[in-house]
This record gives sequence, structure tokens and C-alpha cells, in this order.
Amino acid sequence: MKIYIDGKYYSEQNAKISVFDHGLLYGDGIFEGIRAYNGRVFKLKEHIDRLFYSAKAILLTIPLTHAEMIRAVVDTCRRNKLRNGYIRLVVTRGVGTLGLNPNKCKRPSVIIIADKIQLYPAEYYERGLEIITVPTVRNLHSALNPAIKSLNYLNNILAKIEANNGGCEEAIMLNAQGFVAECTGDNLFVVKGDRLVTPPLTSGALYGITRGVVIQLAQRAGMSVAETDLTRYDLFNADECFLTGTGAELIPVVKIDGRVIGSGKPGPITKSLVQKYHELTQVSGEPI
Ligand code: PMP
Repeated sequence: MKIYIDGKYYSEQNAKISVFDHGLLYGDGIFEGIRAYNGRVFKLKEHIDRLFYSAKAILLTIPLTHAEMIRAVVDTCRRNKLRNGYIRLVVTRGVGTLGLNPNKCKRPSVIIIADKIQLYPAEYYERGLEIITVPTVRNLHSALNPAIKSLNYLNNILAKIEANNGGCEEAIMLNAQGFVAECTGDNLFVVKGDRLVTPPLTSGALYGITRGVVIQLAQRAGMSVAETDLTRYDLFNADECFLTGTGAELIPVVKIDGRVIGSGKPGPITKSLVQKYHELTQVSGEPI
């Protein structure tokens, strides 16, 4: 594997960054997780846009232009002969001193890893996940805005640990008002009647790219889509539920906090959106 660091390629063994990088010392940096399907990078522009928005929010100057970043991602895929896989793009604040001050970090570092995708086991997609809500609430907008895809994922990691302790793969995170925000690495949707509903971005969810694609696919199929606050009660009484994310794609949820969702099996609308999503991933994206 060839890993891109600041314009050069290194073997896995030699791909190293400094222990003084504030990405390591303080989680000061940002990242993206991107998929390649069938020789194309799916929604690359959208991921690079989000990376630049995250950078802006944390006053980090990415040392490449938007177009250069796109080229660097595609080039890394090419060098690794990656046609289907997962790309991790990281921008750290760079090497500084042991103090917090980011002004001491002279040059942000850009890292691109093009690897195989680690999928959830197939049976989770066939049978659906059983998940729980957890005590750790999603970050407040006024503290660390959840729209920033920062290297500081402790909020999500704590929730993930709580899910694992409860015997589950994923956690539903509520916001400080008690409304559903999202999961630790995925957005959440429910189906109620003929409506698809997902929490609004103001609920404390990441502006998920898969979420956006699913909303578009549903609207194109004539479904009504609403972005409204959801309580746990709304989840328990949904007809269907599924999660969305670049890595997980669309994954059905069949039980939440012990309550069976709908029929207890992945529902028809979820299945039809899964199909549409897969079709789209095979035919669109930036050619490698
Ligand atoms: N929420 C969080 C917290 C995430 O980290 C992610 C990405 N893994 C998502 C939602 C899904 O976003 P996307 O569809 O852009 O991958």
C-alpha cells in the first residue's frame, strides 16, 4: 500500500507523522471517509466540500486547493490500483509544541490512505441491527459543532463503548434536548406511513453525504421526506428504521431499546432505497 503524506508516497511501514503533530496531541484536525466503487470515487466533490467546510470552522488552512485535493485522492487510488475500497483523508494541524497554541503549528499535514473496506457482516444487512440509545449526548453546537468532522471523536467513541457494553454494534445519540441526533458514525432515518423522516441537521447530526443522497433518491421516487425532530417514542413506533453512512451504506434497524420496529424485519421501503443506492454507486463518481 502507498500512503500519501504531504505530496509524497510512503510504504505502510514508512508512513509516519510526528508525535508533536497536534492531530495526535489534541485531536486538532479534520477527516473524511470516502468510498470508491467500480473504478470511481463516489461523491468526491461533496466530501472535499465538507472537508473544506470543517477546515474553515476550525480555522485550518488546507495547503491544497479543492481541485488539487481531488487530484491527490484520485492519484492515491490509482497508485494503489484501488477500484473498490475506502479512502481516509486526514488533515492535521501539523507539528507544533506541547502547548495547545495552534499558531505554533506551521504547516498542516495531509494524509490519504486508500484501503479495502471493512464491511459489517452480511447478516446485519439481511436481518437488521438491534441498537440502543446511550447516556452520552451528542456534542452541543455551542461547544463543538457536530457538523465539524474533526479528529476529536471522543463524543462518538464514548457512545460506541456504551453501545458495545449493552451488546450492540451501534448507539443512538440524543441531543441535549432529548431529541434523536444520529448514531456514532451514521445518520438515522425512519419510515412512518408513506413518509421518510430524519432528524434535521440542527438536531446535532453530521451533514451526512449518504443522508443527502438517500433524501434525493426518495424524493425522486415520489416519497415525501421530512426533516423533523424525533423522540425515542417516534423511533419505537416507526414502521421501518435504517442508518446511513459512507462505510455502512444503508443498514436496516429492527430493534431499538428492546422495542421491535415494524415487522421486526428490514422493511420494503428500506430495501428499495438500498437497491437504488447500490445502483447509483455503480454508475456515478470521479473516474480513477
Ligand atoms: N455521523 C457521523 C458522526 C459520522 O462520522 C458519519 C460518517 N461516518 C456519518 C454520520 C455519515 O456521514 P456520511 O454519509 O457522509 O459518511
